[in-house]
Amino acid sequence: MNIIKRNEEEINKLREAGKLVGLTHKYLQQFIKPGITTKELDLLAKKFIESKGCTCSFEGLYGFPGSICISINDEVVHGIPSHRKIKEGDILKLDIGACFEGYHGDSAWSYIVGEPNNDKDVKLLKETEEALFAGLAAIHDGCYVGDIGHAVEKVAHKYNLGVVKELVGHGVGDKVHMDPDVPNYGKERKGPILHTGNVIAVEPMLNLGTANIYQLDDGWTIKTQDGKNSAHFEHTVLVTDDGYEILTRRDVELDPEDKIKEA
Ligand code: MG
Ligand code: MG
Repeated sequence: MNIIKRNEEEINKLREAGKLVGLTHKYLQQFIKPGITTKELDLLAKKFIESKGCTCSFEGLYGFPGSICISINDEVVHGIPSHRKIKEGDILKLDIGACFEGYHGDSAWSYIVGEPNNDKDVKLLKETEEALFAGLAAIHDGCYVGDIGHAVEKVAHKYNLGVVKELVGHGVGDKVHMDPDVPNYGKERKGPILHTGNVIAVEPMLNLGTANIYQLDDGWTIKTQDGKNSAHFEHTVLVTDDGYEILTRRDVELDPEDKIKEA
């Protein structure tokens, strides 16, 4: 397996792509309100990303019919933007990829639309985010990919959440999906070894119920088998000597012209 070590020039491009992904999340968050359609969110993302001189990584990727993936409630990932409206209390998952000068960033985040339907959903989001950061905390020069999955799985088990196994994190670089696979389960000191300069996406997909999933007839949308809700959190990170650098940072500031005025 060839896990590519990125040079400084490539890393700077990956930083730019990642920064725009973080900004796009921040930009779209302003529009997450009951009544907006997922297609409207998709078009807003596309316009925003292209206005910053980048392209949408997922647009047309393997034939995907959208610019970003938008999944709701029991949909795990790969939801196709459409004319359905989001509703109060929905769990909305935005999976955004942007490409800058040939290099990608990839980050998914889960949001509750307006007021949550129940505490279970709020906890699911908090715990899945915790699993993401537990996975990231296992990363440093010389770590094993299995260390990451093990750390994610430990949090999932602590909270009795289903771990989706069929879909995994991945290397990121001049393609959005590269070696290695980064599963959300695994054994410590197993799997490929990561080194400083590698770039990967860690992305736990955790379910309130069963880990089992199925694909809709649309050929894309992945849902939980039992219809219970699912959450998805993802960052693209650079492996460093003693840890990791988040490339798809969320503590980024929108330009004033990208902020919408409150009505
Ligand atoms: Mg993603
Ligand atoms: Mg990904």
